[in-house]
Amino acid sequence: MSDKKGRVFSGARPTGRQHIGNYLGAIKNYVALQDEYECVYCIVDVHALTTMETTEDLKQNTFEMALDFLAAGIRPQESIVFIQSHVPQVMELHTYLSMVTPLGKLTDLPTFKDKIRQQPQNVNYGLVGYPVLMTADIVLYKAGIVPVGVDQAPHLEFARETVRSFNYRYHTSVLIEPQMKITEVPKVIGIDGVQKMSKSLDNHIELAATPEETTKRVMMMVTDPARIRRTDPGNPDVCNVYSFHKIFSSPEEMEMVNVECRRAGIGCVDCKRLLAKNLNQTLESFRQRRAELEKSPDTIYDVLNEGGRRAREIAEETMREVRQAIGLP
Ligand code: SF4
Repeated sequence: MSDKKGRVFSGARPTGRQHIGNYLGAIKNYVALQDEYECVYCIVDVHALTTMETTEDLKQNTFEMALDFLAAGIRPQESIVFIQSHVPQVMELHTYLSMVTPLGKLTDLPTFKDKIRQQPQNVNYGLVGYPVLMTADIVLYKAGIVPVGVDQAPHLEFARETVRSFNYRYHTSVLIEPQMKITEVPKVIGIDGVQKMSKSLDNHIELAATPEETTKRVMMMVTDPARIRRTDPGNPDVCNVYSFHKIFSSPEEMEMVNVECRRAGIGCVDCKRLLAKNLNQTLESFRQRRAELEKSPDTIYDVLNEGGRRAREIAEETMREVRQAIGLP
């Protein structure tokens, strides 16, 4: 680990089986970061409770997500992969950090206001403190770097300010101000061709879907609305199928679609079939690894338990310093 550039932390809510949008937006980057950094990847089940009506699927969703992470190439021998609630120290640090966080700052955050709009029936205390818990997650593991998309940058700025407030209040430098690593997060549009790919909107394609399911979903993709008849020329620049070709097809195939679509030389059905074939080919090795791992669920639980043990070790060391800095008797 000593040859790595530093420690990265990232948390992801347990949303179950991951889709292509999750892969391109986060998991792919998680895998790549391992080459340069010591990575701590946390499945934030406690955060998820702030918006959950029921925890019925929580265990299964956590398992499925971990399975996808490992099948995608996260290496648990190097990286720490664990479940947030397995490290109770994070709740303790959250409490201490909440004492240096003005309430108004939390209620003014646009993300909190969005949540009030989305779930007016459940504006809970945990929702207000969400960014404080997030800060606790990052600083507990002394992570110097947090990969974020541009839209998440204000959250990290909040974490940095909270660290400064804590260190100032207790005349210490025990908590490390995390640095942002701005990553380009491609906006993957769902099969509806309009909204960001999301499970809740049912416009997603699961990484672990069978080739048949994948093909079926691809065939449902919305195309250039101006292309009503097969003989109508299309515009790939406004078609989400083409956006996918750019990621999953060869340069020659992309060029062919780009030219032939515009002169109605290729129909949308054939164009989608080609995409489905390439998508299935790209995902084949992931799916094989996933199927192998799925045969022994204990392996996944072992990884998560071992990750929890390693995370607690770091967490307890930080908390010893934190308690001392605060001056707790
Ligand atoms: S041919 Fe392909 S790129 Fe053109 S509109 Fe149809 S699906 Fe989209």
